[in-house]
Amino acid sequence: MSATPPVWRPRDCHAHTTFSDGVLTPKAVVEVARERGARPSVADHLSCDVGAAVGTVAGVANYLDVLEKLRRDVPELGISGEFCWHDSLWRTLPRDQWARFTHTVGSLHAVWLPSGNRLHMFQRGWPEGLDADAYMDAHVENLERFAREMPVEILAHPTLLPLALRTRPLQELWTEAREERAVRALAAAGIAFEVSNRYRPHIRFVRRAVDAGVRLSLGSDGHTFEQVADLAWPLATARELGVRDEDLYEPLVHGRRS
Ligand SMILES: [Zn+2]
Ligand SMILES: [Zn+2]
Repeated sequence: MSATPPVWRPRDCHAHTTFSDGVLTPKAVVEVARERGARPSVADHLSCDVGAAVGTVAGVANYLDVLEKLRRDVPELGISGEFCWHDSLWRTLPRDQWARFTHTVGSLHAVWLPSGNRLHMFQRGWPEGLDADAYMDAHVENLERFAREMPVEILAHPTLLPLALRTRPLQELWTEAREERAVRALAAAGIAFEVSNRYRPHIRFVRRAVDAGVRLSLGSDGHTFEQVADLAWPLATARELGVRDEDLYEPLVHGRRS
């Protein structure tokens, strides 16, 4: 009898459940991923600054307990969390808790402006006197600081910008110089660039990341049955750029940074 070689399946590194603002239970996320031929992860919001989120150290302990229990039946389960860069929770988690994740995801859901105020990606309105270029420069500076300080494996949705800027083409705001700074920061830190199905990056930026030696990760950022583990576009994009399937970030192969 010959053993069947294991079939490679894409990993959804970023999906939400009822622990935060998703509608599926962790078990349902596993089932949906299986149906779609993907490997599952749960990466709920673990943050004090997201409405429906796990926002305390004790809450994170419970979250990890529940997911580790589920992994006894589902050894391929990725146990992750999406942490806000601007929030303090990730800085206060005990080391032994941090070590229990298979991988961690960091998000620039808000950035610090030169004024000292914060601008949130989902906030309505726009600070008076701030022009888009000055904002983008601050955004990239925040990204560079994020890469230096935050010990995560993945930058979620790298092109996510404030609501007020989302009518403008990404490649205008993300100039080539800004893209270059971003991918250099990720490369230096060893943080993967998420090819998000929800906030789809423009191809030039993804290509630049690949050329700089930044690993790609696939993320549905799914919150619903329709969205979870839908990796068709991210996977096609990675393949189009010549990235081999086995080089896409897989926590159980590539592990943690520290
Ligand atoms: Zn996010
Ligand atoms: Zn998310």
